[in-house]
Amino acid sequence: MRGIEKFKVCIDREECIGDGACVNEAPETFELDDENKAILLGDSTEDEEFVLDAARCCPLDIIYLTDQETGAQVYPEG
Ligand code: SF4
Repeated sequence: MRGIEKFKVCIDREECIGDGACVNEAPETFELDDENKAILLGDSTEDEEFVLDAARCCPLDIIYLTDQETGAQVYPEG
């Protein structure tokens, strides 16, 4: 399933340090803007696993994934 269909994706841009880790993992879904902060690309066709990997690799854990169907927070866990 496409990551952006599976997950509602939120990025805490205030905290983003612009290291690009999420962009490396899921370049169709995340991009750095001209403020060097991550933004979400709404038309991504990227697989959900790549989006999950991107959230997991964020050094600040500021990419929040919520299951679109259940509303449950998938990442960060607990
Ligand atoms: S991995 Fe996290 S800190 Fe790094 S650019 Fe992406 S959102 Fe920002």
